[in-house]
Amino acid sequence: MNVCIIGGGASGCLCGILLAKNGHRVTIYEKNDKIGKKLYITGKGRCNLTNATTGAEFLSNVVTGSKFIMSAETRFNSNDTIELFKSFGVPLKIERGNRVFPVSDKSSDIIAALYSQLKKYKVNVQFNSNVTDILQENGKAIGVVVNGTNQYYEAVVVATGGKSYAATGSTGDGYTWAKQLGHKIIEPVPSLVAINVTDKDTFVLQGLSLKNVSVSAYCGDKKIYTSSVGEMLFTATGVSGPLILSLSAYINRLNPKDITLAIDFKPGLTREQLSNRIAREIANLGAKQVSSLLEELLPKSLCGIFANRLGVLETYKANQLNKETRERLITMLKGFTLNVESLEDFDRAVITSGGVCTKEVSPKDMQSKLIKNLYFIGEVLDIDALTGGFNLQLAFSSAVACASNLR
Ligand SMILES: Cc1cc2nc3c(=O)[nH]c(=O)nc-3n(C[C@H](O)[C@H](O)[C@H](O)COP(=O)(O)OP(=O)(O)OC[C@H]3O[C@@H](n4cnc5c(N)ncnc54)[C@H](O)[C@@H]3O)c2cc1C
Repeated sequence: MNVCIIGGGASGCLCGILLAKNGHRVTIYEKNDKIGKKLYITGKGRCNLTNATTGAEFLSNVVTGSKFIMSAETRFNSNDTIELFKSFGVPLKIERGNRVFPVSDKSSDIIAALYSQLKKYKVNVQFNSNVTDILQENGKAIGVVVNGTNQYYEAVVVATGGKSYAATGSTGDGYTWAKQLGHKIIEPVPSLVAINVTDKDTFVLQGLSLKNVSVSAYCGDKKIYTSSVGEMLFTATGVSGPLILSLSAYINRLNPKDITLAIDFKPGLTREQLSNRIAREIANLGAKQVSSLLEELLPKSLCGIFANRLGVLETYKANQLNKETRERLITMLKGFTLNVESLEDFDRAVITSGGVCTKEVSPKDMQSKLIKNLYFIGEVLDIDALTGGFNLQLAFSSAVACASNLR
């Protein structure tokens, strides 16, 4: 078949290689002057290519669309990605949390490998080619409009990505065409994104990184999400870091002003254990100041804020803290509250949540159920996952499902 793919990103490139390998004539239209502009910045330039987990464990990290992607992930999972990229000549390594990276720590090696495979299978990659429309006739996709000219194909694959980090080329064009063609679009919202808070007393903490904490999100009294134990970071206007990015995926469709975060600085201890620990510390400190007690429990820069919120002077004697204040200290250590002001916008979001509604797409080959010969792969679909290499795996699994079954 004569196929065109719109977008030379992660999903578009892999799909192009495999379609060409299967004997199709393939053209990729990429609006940039190179492929993989977003791939280049993945994993802070190191490209967290996939996550070495499969099946239920993999799917538990998929926030939206796990049911839809299940069969594609079964047919092409992270082991397959690892083997494929090794066969492309890229040595890989597995790091903490099963994150898979190129041994070189260079995303450019992943891009170079994809480009060399595109060349090997004679995929026609057209750069500086901005697609502005999809042509359809009698419920069938028949081509695209590229740089103002109609180009006709037997199948059209939309691999335009989401709308985060628009400077990389993903500007959400796929959503517009899909909607025009009758597809339902789940409202795109930023995900895996830093959170701004209203608590100005924490802004001085900018740069403070915390390990071994957990964070919960509440909407009123209702707990929405509790993270695992991990790392977070204070920023100039709020919080970020792995735990916070993941948490954002669970609150990004709610009114941010209704959300409160609670940081558990001692997730390994129950209230009772913490109470005993504080009693022990106070006994050891004797007549020393509250600041000394807080420093035993927290990073130094947090102590002043704790004392302020507790309403005690840091110069108080630790052993003069009354029971009620100690209880409030325990409550604060187990749930230091931050009131959400907003989530950062698309320009700073790792991914877009939302997109082409998967109910109208076949999970077997990613073909539109509304328009024949039209396919959607990668982030343009309403599928998204947590950080750790899962989103690229979603792009690859959907690309392979399309490439293996397009006929
Ligand atoms: C800062 C950052 C770090 C990330 N790190 C990781 C990570 O380490 N691991 C991970 O799993 N995920 C990571 N992600 C997410 C991951 O990069 C994306 O989920 C993935 O790239 C999506 O692949 P895609 O093929 O759907 O879209 P993209 O890779 O975004 O590719 C879409 C392509 O389509 C082109 N295009 C769009 N519209 C048009 C048009 N009209 N005409 C022609 N071309 C068009 C774009 O120029 C682009 O090249 C990261 C994202 C960001 C922003």
